[in-house]
Amino acid sequence: MKSYIDGWYCASPLDLSVLNKQSNAQILSVLLEAYPSGLTAHEIAEKTGLPLKTVYSQVGELYREYYVLDDKDIKKVNTRGRPRSHVTQRDESQRHRSALYIENANSLFDIYEGKKSTPLPPGNVSYPDEFTNAWHNVVAKKEEEEIGVVLLDFLEKTLRRMAESTDDKIRNWSPQTELAFCCPHCGLNHEARDFIRATLIHLIDHLERSNKFIEFLKENDFLSQDAYDRVLAKKQSKNVTPQVLEP
Ligand SMILES: [Zn+2]
Repeated sequence: MKSYIDGWYCASPLDLSVLNKQSNAQILSVLLEAYPSGLTAHEIAEKTGLPLKTVYSQVGELYREYYVLDDKDIKKVNTRGRPRSHVTQRDESQRHRSALYIENANSLFDIYEGKKSTPLPPGNVSYPDEFTNAWHNVVAKKEEEEIGVVLLDFLEKTLRRMAESTDDKIRNWSPQTELAFCCPHCGLNHEARDFIRATLIHLIDHLERSNKFIEFLKENDFLSQDAYDRVLAKKQSKNVTPQVLEP
């Protein structure tokens, strides 16, 4: 599948220790490329150039931390609608023969319902509970829904324009839309999910660079006079104008 957000996100020191190993990052990269199909340890070794022994041990670690799943987990989900409860106790030799799949389901689509610490999908972050509680206190449901309508409309337009573009370079960034591209484990199309997240985050990137936003920062004393002058000078020299989105 296509990758819309560069790099890996570490929500915890455990994630950091897993992703800090170059071999793990390489294995996850080739599994991401293979999505929604899986790869056997042999295929991973071939694609990464890593020794098979390294692949076996690193896949073991990625499996323990729920970064990857194997054929049996997928089958279990598809036949019983529930994952096995003791995935970590799988016989190592069985897994060496099985195909491996990348997984980073979260929230609604997490079939472990938060009981296992699966890695966060690209662009997702975790927040302190106290912050989200405070957030819910000051944000009205109705306001949230109104912004949601605008964002969904924006997403629909963006998806359609990209899919219908006559320029291959643009159209190729469209996420796959076939049902067969849905994750064999959690059922959500990971490519479409990442596209949507990247599209919405990029909207915030643009907002943060817009003149109106810079003025907003200045008016609220969130920006020093020096920094404000520097930003304005930079914008003028580069002739950067904020992107205006069609209504
Ligand atoms: Zn999934």
